[in-house]
Amino acid sequence: MTEYLMRTWADIYLDRLSFNLHQIQATLPASTKVMGVVKADGYGHGDALIASSLQAEGIDFFAVSNLDEALSLRSSGIHGEILILGFTPPSQARVLSEKRITQTVFSKEYAHQLNDACLAEGVRLSAHIKLDSGMGRIGFIQDESRSAAEEIAAICRLPAIHVTGIFTHFSSADQLDEASVAYTQRQIHLFFNAVEQLERLGIRFEHKHIQNSAGIAFRSNLHGMDYARAGIILYGAPPSGEALPFALQPVMELKTVISMVKEIPAGCSISYGRTFVSTHPMRIATVPIGYADGYPRLLSNRGFMLIHGKRAPILGNICMDQLMLDITSIEDVHMGDIVTVVGQDGADRIGFDELAALCGTINYELMCLIGRRVPRVYHKDGEIVEVVDYLQQSRCENRG
Ligand SMILES: *Cc1c(COP(=O)(O)O)cnc(C)c1O
Repeated sequence: MTEYLMRTWADIYLDRLSFNLHQIQATLPASTKVMGVVKADGYGHGDALIASSLQAEGIDFFAVSNLDEALSLRSSGIHGEILILGFTPPSQARVLSEKRITQTVFSKEYAHQLNDACLAEGVRLSAHIKLDSGMGRIGFIQDESRSAAEEIAAICRLPAIHVTGIFTHFSSADQLDEASVAYTQRQIHLFFNAVEQLERLGIRFEHKHIQNSAGIAFRSNLHGMDYARAGIILYGAPPSGEALPFALQPVMELKTVISMVKEIPAGCSISYGRTFVSTHPMRIATVPIGYADGYPRLLSNRGFMLIHGKRAPILGNICMDQLMLDITSIEDVHMGDIVTVVGQDGADRIGFDELAALCGTINYELMCLIGRRVPRVYHKDGEIVEVVDYLQQSRCENRG
């Protein structure tokens, strides 16, 4: 394999993305297609290459969080459907319509504003209805005492909004304790109830979807769904600490290099604030990665990286662009040696989930935090197929 050596970079293995996609497809019923969730720059993996690879695998529906992300996909040559999962200002109705972007409609007020904006612009747009079955975020509220069916049916009759789908979102499908499982089951019931009530009102939906990654993993036998919205599992990471019923391969590995090696005696302090002071002679390596690269400062004196397959603990406070590692027990470390920040090295592996646990957060957040100044290096069939360096791209490239 070609070695890519820079300051700090993210290796993205597209073959592993394909592997994960096939695992997901094998889990779902044959009639349920995968919707590729590529919001937040493809969970930090780069939306353009991730979405294009998925498109080459036959994926025809993508989900993003906002209009800019949707336009970014269009300018990357994504021609399938794109669903915006969140709010888009009604003033953008024309762009939504012209770029064939499907907007989530989650309230009566929003639906009417969108419809009015479309009528004023003389356009029509596609929409999916969002049902709130218990997430408590956005959506038409459906519970045991309130039915959203009448309100949704009225929106389906608005002249400028073409409703093509309906969906809801699980709040705790990643947790397998009894109460969470019952809550997920209730969400499923409420969704099916709403769809049934709407069918009785003469409304049918082409695209129904509920599952996120956790739903795919732990509710794979949900029938009657046209799509499942796969996010984090596409990238090869689990949605929670619960063991998954299928194998995944982590798509991203984060690498940096040793910039300097030194010996220090006892009584030396390392980094800002002198939070680490040596009690014996040590060997220290400095690496050019810091919190501005998205490596959390919370890992100061807590995290570790892999060098020659061995764990090197982080010493002292993490700086904006650099940090120090204890390499006292690792032989033969030199300037230029590759350091695995996240990924496999020899028999050991550091996952986003392990680092997230140390920070008291989740793997999702750490993936999204990987900075813009970290180039993404794409590998396929053992070769580098593309390098995306955000800082070298022209400022308006995506708006052309
Ligand atoms: C982010 C998101 C997803 C994907 O979630 P994962 O847990 O990463 O699979 C699916 N649906 C909605 C509405 C989302 O916001």
